[in-house]
Amino acid sequence: MTNISRAKAYLLILLSLVPALAIPLLIRHLPVETRTHNIAFKAEKYGYSPSKIVVNKGDKIILKPTSLDVTHGFLLDGYSLEFVIKQQGINYLKYLWEDDDGKLNADWDKVSEIEFVADKSGKFTYRCTQICGNLHPFMTGELIVRPNSPYHFAISLSVWIVLSGLLLFQANPGERSAVFSRINLFEVLPGLKWLVNRRSFQFLVLLPGVVIFYLFILSSLWGSPVGNRNIAIIIVWILWWFALKAIFVPLGGRLWCMMCPLPAPAEWLSRRSLTAVHYIKKPFKGLHHRFSGLQRDWPKMMQNMWLQNFIFLAMISFGIILITRPVATAGMFLLILVTTLVLSLVYRNRIFCLYLCPVGGFLGNYSMASMTEIRAIDPEVCRKHKDKCCYTGGSGGWACPWKQYIGKMSRNNYCGFCMECLKSCPKDNIAIFLRPFGSDRVLKGYDEMFNVIIMLVVAIAFSITMLGPWGFVKAAANVTESRQLLPYLIYLAAIWGSALVVVPGLFTLTARGANRLAGKPASDRDMTLRLAYMLIPVGIFAWIAFSLPSVLINYNYIFSVLSDPLGLGWDIFGTADYPFNPFHPEWIPMIQGIVLLTGLYFGLSRGFLALKTIIPNSVARGKAMLLPSLFVLGMVNILLKLYMG
Ligand code: SF4
Ligand code: SF4
Repeated sequence: MTNISRAKAYLLILLSLVPALAIPLLIRHLPVETRTHNIAFKAEKYGYSPSKIVVNKGDKIILKPTSLDVTHGFLLDGYSLEFVIKQQGINYLKYLWEDDDGKLNADWDKVSEIEFVADKSGKFTYRCTQICGNLHPFMTGELIVRPNSPYHFAISLSVWIVLSGLLLFQANPGERSAVFSRINLFEVLPGLKWLVNRRSFQFLVLLPGVVIFYLFILSSLWGSPVGNRNIAIIIVWILWWFALKAIFVPLGGRLWCMMCPLPAPAEWLSRRSLTAVHYIKKPFKGLHHRFSGLQRDWPKMMQNMWLQNFIFLAMISFGIILITRPVATAGMFLLILVTTLVLSLVYRNRIFCLYLCPVGGFLGNYSMASMTEIRAIDPEVCRKHKDKCCYTGGSGGWACPWKQYIGKMSRNNYCGFCMECLKSCPKDNIAIFLRPFGSDRVLKGYDEMFNVIIMLVVAIAFSITMLGPWGFVKAAANVTESRQLLPYLIYLAAIWGSALVVVPGLFTLTARGANRLAGKPASDRDMTLRLAYMLIPVGIFAWIAFSLPSVLINYNYIFSVLSDPLGLGWDIFGTADYPFNPFHPEWIPMIQGIVLLTGLYFGLSRGFLALKTIIPNSVARGKAMLLPSLFVLGMVNILLKLYMG
């Protein structure tokens, strides 16, 4: 391979777009035969049989539904088809009629079979509308009406993006993929510097979260045991999870860590202060503060992400139980709270956040891609400043609770956005910067690489478990209700095995192959870690795509629990019975596809830039990108299949 000109690369990219669009269009216009499908349709906690119905556009579908346990519902996205399924083949079909005033009314017809024509092509989810148990929000099935053009376009465009990337890599786009470099937000947002330099700033940001958090614990323990009737479950696992993945991480990195209520009480206890700084002139153990407790340092051999990785895997092993059982969520919060308090009596700094928090692990790695950073304005000023108050503490601010020396900090991973260094720096040498997405690009150890792989594997595993149509997978994960230990153990083995052995093994082989193809310009370790960076943008966008349906489908529960936070029959704002009315659910697969393709683009482009310092030659770099590009293409296509296929 030799360098090609940028103009030639762009021309080839444009030309290759023609078949990328023409092939799905061609498939769309192939003639298909229509026929009638008679389907014995069974509903049973928490899935349908068949879980997937595949037909051609124009086919007639006759469903003969029955429930094998409790009453279930059926609402088909994109089609105005809704019915209730009871035992012994008794069903109630919803129909709308207009009264004399032109107002639409809903009524139900008792029927034994339901007939409709699949007149729209694509993928449509059918979902339960009757609260049938703990996993009710995940009881879904899929209707695929061929030709599934959105899916075909997504596959085709994913291949086109990879081909375009490989062409552009040969044309050496360098840093030109970034539209701007860095903007000091203190210079463009008047008042921001004043605001974040207030001693009370973090406390005031934290306070509402702390109050709400303790109310959530109470509601988890004493409110409704049904997940989607309990405010803690709805706000934490639908709203917060989505906001974390789609807003906080891409825009603000560890911004959430600044306002996280979980470690706050421990920090206040350790400092014996809510806002004030206790400064001592003579340093104690290198810092100008004395904390309560033993003030030990965390053992060096555990100063990495391995514990976080295992704790995260342990947590998601009970993922479906955690997010559907309020008492399990409360138990997890209380456990974290007690752990942070105990740790603060033995160790100084945010040990839990740095080395144990399961959420903090991926927040750290994913914040490498985020569009904000806190950094020294002029590292040279730091080099010359002997006291390093940002690290050791000053009279205006606490020593960095995350053990970071900002003069040399080049990644967001372990910066908790607490703003203490801004206050402790006497040289006014620290600012908040806006930067292009995907700016920190160096993973430093295999612990971090495993973390990004675990995150991607779990995004896929959760997509299968929670969004997929397979009732047996949900039953396996839902062990406390299904009481089937063997399927649960197989389920765990599949997740742990994929996250710790299969995918890391495949990725390592891919990276080694990339190193060989490029002429071995770096050690296999360096190459593997650099290339692993590609999985961060891909992972962030995969999690956004995964979280989207829970918000767009279940947003009504947010209104309901705001009026009735404990599920006790209150109606504070008159929204307790807010109807279940998914927001354009037929658009969701398409939006997910666009989100995944965006992640693919960022993964490839930022991965290429990550290689720059170890492979200065752009031709060799282009060769090194070949196999990893195929690897991420494969990963993205697994998710495309799950969401759109
Ligand atoms: S206190 Fe300020 S100038 Fe000194 S090392 Fe820290 S950030 Fe740099
Ligand atoms: S580097 Fe500054 S903002 Fe980041 S955690 Fe340390 S003190 Fe807080």
